[in-house]
Amino acid sequence: MSWRAAVLTLFPEMFPGPLGLSLAGRALERGDWSLQTHNLRDHGLGRHRAVDDTPFGGGAGLVMRPDVVDAALSQALPPGDRRAVIYLTPRGRRLTQADAGRYAEGEGVVLLCGRYEGIDERVLDARGIEQVSIGDYVLSGGEPAALVLLDSVVRLLPGVMGSERSGLEESFADGLLEYPHYTKPADWQGRAAPEMLLSGNHAAIAAWRRAAAEADTRARRPDLWEQYASRTRFSALPITAAHRN
Ligand code: SAM
Repeated sequence: MSWRAAVLTLFPEMFPGPLGLSLAGRALERGDWSLQTHNLRDHGLGRHRAVDDTPFGGGAGLVMRPDVVDAALSQALPPGDRRAVIYLTPRGRRLTQADAGRYAEGEGVVLLCGRYEGIDERVLDARGIEQVSIGDYVLSGGEPAALVLLDSVVRLLPGVMGSERSGLEESFADGLLEYPHYTKPADWQGRAAPEMLLSGNHAAIAAWRRAAAEADTRARRPDLWEQYASRTRFSALPITAAHRN
């Protein structure tokens, strides 16, 4: 069975959106993965199909009701379904490439998109739902976050990316940012591509790229560098831009 995604949302028309195009879109057409949306509104209460209510304790905004979300999850998750259930929220742990790889190895994901102030915590606790953020900023809804998470996972599914190598060499694959890229022309507006990359010496190019990845990670992402350096002997090296040429 192919990898299956389900999205619970008040805006099912946002899907597949950009995931219907390019790599992910072709994979969707081929059946390498599937995407099902569930409209939370279908489980709303009363004549207006209300999904939200005022927050206990007061304050601004509205909160999505636990009973409504629970009913939608019961419909979306058949008994025995082993997919990860994830609520996209800025309060969650930050999504990483390692998470994307882990989700790609599973049977699929069920994504819960919040709106308003978010979802009543009790239904998240009761169902042991994972809470995942795509970054330290606040979106107006979980849908763009769900699209980001799905994009990061679908490209890792077997056969979706053209070359298996490109996944292995990418940023975060081994704890570093990827090395910088250059293409033709070799000289562009007086800026030469690094000579080493034109040398044809594959071992020297690999070493250059490694050094560039390390220097850029150290300069741009000290948080990643610290973790990487604690696993390697490079922690004492000074930052260098020497790899540039
Ligand atoms: N009151 C919430 C807070 O301050 O944490 C923000 C709610 S936000 C306006 C509405 C919905 O957008 C959230 O329930 C969540 O589903 C989604 N969302 C917003 N920012 C997000 C992020 N960084 N990562 C994942 N989902 C996010």
